Amino acid sequence: MDLIGIERYVEQVGEEMVADIVRAARPLYGLRLLHVNSTFHGGGVAGMLNALVPLMNDAGINADWNLLYGDPALFQVTKKLHNALQGEVVELSEHDKQAYLYVNEKFARYSPISRHDVVVVHDPQPLPMLRYRQKEVPWVWRCHIDLSTPHEPVWAMLKPFILRYDAAVLSSESFRKPDLPIQTHLIPPAIDPLSEVNRPLTVEEANAELFSHGINLDKPLIVQVSRFDKWKDPLGVLNVFQEVRRQVDCQLVMIGNMATDDPEGPQIYEDIVTKSGQLEDVHFITQTDELLVNALQKQAAVVLQLSRREGFGLTVSEALWKKTPVVATNVGGIPLQIWDGQTGFLVEPGDYAAAADRVIRLLSEPDLRAELGDSGHAHVRRHFLMPRLLLDWLRLLGELV
Ligand code: UDP
Repeated sequence: MDLIGIERYVEQVGEEMVADIVRAARPLYGLRLLHVNSTFHGGGVAGMLNALVPLMNDAGINADWNLLYGDPALFQVTKKLHNALQGEVVELSEHDKQAYLYVNEKFARYSPISRHDVVVVHDPQPLPMLRYRQKEVPWVWRCHIDLSTPHEPVWAMLKPFILRYDAAVLSSESFRKPDLPIQTHLIPPAIDPLSEVNRPLTVEEANAELFSHGINLDKPLIVQVSRFDKWKDPLGVLNVFQEVRRQVDCQLVMIGNMATDDPEGPQIYEDIVTKSGQLEDVHFITQTDELLVNALQKQAAVVLQLSRREGFGLTVSEALWKKTPVVATNVGGIPLQIWDGQTGFLVEPGDYAAAADRVIRLLSEPDLRAELGDSGHAHVRRHFLMPRLLLDWLRLLGELV
């Protein structure tokens, strides 16, 4: 008999967690909750909602998910906002601001919010829609971005919208804003161990998947799974690979899908393919194939995540869950997942020599790889699996409504 709901996770998180979830959900039965974000596909937020929304429904909440129907022009503006929140100096024209508000106003007028008891708005894209609604229920702003050093003029423009929210939810203590006086909660993201990206694969299945994409394991594999985004430092990845390859014969796969709300992806992809020039043993993959991501994370000797800024970095938890050691940068939510020398290696962003050094060490010490892989897996099991995320949301909703 197939299990269908939260009880499917007993093997990963234990019975007590499932019982806690059922208990936390009881006062919330029938609650009508709406999530709003701007893409069904690509990037960590969409992936998380794909797992969280059905689980909320399974727990007894009426959870809905709506998309802000942006067009490419809007996403040019909202990517600028994203970049500015991560600290880039960005100029927003009057036209940009008007486009942002116009789409939100239009969306706010036709979206079915009045049928819900609580609204959760993800990230800056749909942030101002609240301004165009009569507010009758609690609204929560779930920000997945590192807010610690935003470009001030853009932060000042966005802050009045945020102030209208009843609560904000951030991924890490380090993202808290002292100048944001609304109730702020911390809920780190999580991965779904039963999704196509994370479900257990046999070595044969994983290798067959790699082989069907032209990758074989005749050389140790280094992998970075990331949207093609400058914040993920794809050039840094090439740099580290070159350095490592001087000492160890190995291959690199960089795989990244294109999120519909990230218009910079195709250009950055072109740039790095051009810059990779004649480098041997480098594979670039842009198609979205979750099974392939799974197989790569499982079979990599080392996974890299060299982000210059990061919200949380779900790809780190995904690799650790597969017991693959990770070398990643000390930014955003990554240090929650990687404790240097215990569950992986942390380096400072841009310190390619240190990253190469850790990769070379891992490639030459199988016991170290196994040790870090095992403790990384245990760490993710304890803190970063979907049932914990669901429980955190249920507890927060219990406080809010
Ligand atoms: N991902 C994917 N295919 C790709 C690249 C990424 O399925 O080619 C997934 C990846 O497995 C992870 C998510 O997209 O679940 C990226 O989340 P993360 O938090 O690492 O970064 P974001 O894109 O949200 O900045």
